[in-house]
Amino acid sequence: MSTVILVTGGTGLVGKAIEYVIKTEPENSRFGKKPDETWVFASSKEGDLRNPEQTRKLFEKYKPTHVIHLAALVGGLFKNMKYKLTFLRDNILINDNILHTSHLTPSTTKLISCLSTCVFPDKVTYPLDETKIHSGPPHESNFGYAHAKRMVDVQNHAYKEEFGCNFTSAIPTNVFGPNDNFDLEDSHVIPGLIHKCYLAKKNNTPFVVSGTGKPLRQFIFSYDLAKLFIWMLREYDDVEPVILSAGENEEVSIKEVADAIVKAVGFQGAYSFDTTRADGQFRKPASNEKLLGLIGGFEFTPFDQALDTTVKWFIESYDNART
Ligand code: NDP
Repeated sequence: MSTVILVTGGTGLVGKAIEYVIKTEPENSRFGKKPDETWVFASSKEGDLRNPEQTRKLFEKYKPTHVIHLAALVGGLFKNMKYKLTFLRDNILINDNILHTSHLTPSTTKLISCLSTCVFPDKVTYPLDETKIHSGPPHESNFGYAHAKRMVDVQNHAYKEEFGCNFTSAIPTNVFGPNDNFDLEDSHVIPGLIHKCYLAKKNNTPFVVSGTGKPLRQFIFSYDLAKLFIWMLREYDDVEPVILSAGENEEVSIKEVADAIVKAVGFQGAYSFDTTRADGQFRKPASNEKLLGLIGGFEFTPFDQALDTTVKWFIESYDNART
């Protein structure tokens, strides 16, 4: 029996990372391609997943046995605040179409969807863990995205209880790596700062980081996350989600992020923090205890090394990167 793995959102940051790992890890190794596997990395050009008919056609074309569902309307804080209904509705439509089509497609035996630590309640006791997703309203800035994503967990349970479906979800912390969105206005903190520092070097202007640099964040390198998705695909069969993240002790401050970027970019000009700008939450640690208990040993890429790889990719791919 051959295995066909359909990766929705296959052209994004995480989808490209899975493609990279599958291509570069030794064949038949824990994270490498197995001889009987066919991997399909779908973009929105293959079908707009907000549309049920286009979703059905995609499944009909590839007849996947497994689905890693990454496709989503994703955006930074500003975009989330401005387009709450669009984030809610597009993501509800995409997720509902993927879950329901996976249920209706006879060949499809397993589905892993992707949540995010942004879906957790605003007021919650830290560290975050898998049991706390629904224990209070999400932060109001991204309630559209968060509620749409939370519903996937609700649906997974309902599909399992009513139809016995093998559906589950992953919860990554902040992801970074090659193929990220490096837009200056609408990106996450690492790609945004890399682009800013790159321009500061190129134009001989100061590199100014918003905020005090003190907040702490938990990041995961996209290639590490890719391996964890492959592990889930092959070895995890439970409806309950798993947080995919480096440990709480691996938190990095925004200043450490900026220092590492300055070093990786080779920027030697003026570098400062604009403390008049908001910092956001000081920290929001998530526990990876469940993951480590299940996977039995996993080596995360050291932060500086992962950042170096990302910066090198960005500089080499500047003309084609999402900027
Ligand atoms: P990207 O924005 O890099 O990629 C999004 C992907 O979704 C693209 O392949 C895009 O296709 C596809 N897509 C978007 N809309 C549609 C649509 N209507 N129909 C079909 N495909 C669509 O996202 P990431 O790789 O960063 O995110 C992947 C997953 O991880 C998402 O579910 C996200 O919520 C989650 N996540 C991301 C985090 C992060 O820090 N980036 C953190 C935690 C979770 P195309 O290229 O054709 O536009």
